[in-house]
This record gives sequence, C-alpha cells and structure tokens, in this order.
Amino acid sequence: MLQCTAFTELPEMGARVALMGLADGPGQASEAPDLDDFLLCELGEHDEAVEHAAQLWSASAPAGRDLWMFWADGGGRRTFRFTELLPCPAVIHRLSVKEGDACLLYDRHPAAHSWDVRDPLADLMAERIREDVRRDRDRADEEEP
Ligand SMILES: [Zn+2]
Ligand SMILES: [Zn+2]
Repeated sequence: MLQCTAFTELPEMGARVALMGLADGPGQASEAPDLDDFLLCELGEHDEAVEHAAQLWSASAPAGRDLWMFWADGGGRRTFRFTELLPCPAVIHRLSVKEGDACLLYDRHPAAHSWDVRDPLADLMAERIREDVRRDRDRADEEEP
C-alpha cells in the first residue's frame, strides 16, 4: 500500500499549545522540539472521509500516548485537531529480526500498518542516493590508472 500523499502546513500556535498541554510532553516552550513547517500524512492511502494524520510528539514513557495532529479539508477550509493517542499495539515479527517492528501509527488507525505503507517519495530519494553512490564509484574506477 502506498502512503497518502497529503501534506499540510503546520498550524504552529495550535501545535505549540497542544504540546504544552501534554503531561509527558516537552514542558516549557523553550524545550519544545523544532517542528517541521510541513507535515506529511503518515497513513496508507485512505478514504476521503478519513482525516489525514501526522505524529507531532512521540511519548518517551512506555505505553505513553503520542500526540497526533489530524486534518481534513471540507467546505473550502482546512480544520485541525490534536489528540493524544496510544500507539498501535501491532508488532510484526519477521524471520530475519529478533525483536519485531512495532507499527508506528496510533491505536485503531485506518488503512494498513506502517510496515505495509510504502512512501514513494522516500523510495525515490533512496534510489537517487544509490545512483549517486554508484556514479561516484564509477568515477573513482575511471580515475584508476
Ligand atoms: Zn492522508
Ligand atoms: Zn498499526
């Protein structure tokens, strides 16, 4: 499943207020994390009726709640809401890995678990980097006497 391609500009005031309200959050505004100006929806491709979602803060405590921002476009305007949610309890166990990977999304999220979501943009970047490395290596080979 491909990742949803929606992104949004961060409503900074709302995000700061939501972060300050967290029991297990960064606390003082001076300690607040640098927030990205733009956030990508982290869900797999989903229905238009489902809100887009991006994680703003990941709880450090085990079984802590993460802060998620949801947004939806409707009636010509974009609405945001911030919610603390438990992480998705799903864990995938691959043969090659002992520990298993936990899903990075929130409990009862729509669409696929995070390990089944492919980010075409990230894949593209990775491919670019591989090409650059290959090119550098070829060039180094040519320079050999
Ligand atoms: Zn989305
Ligand atoms: Zn999940």
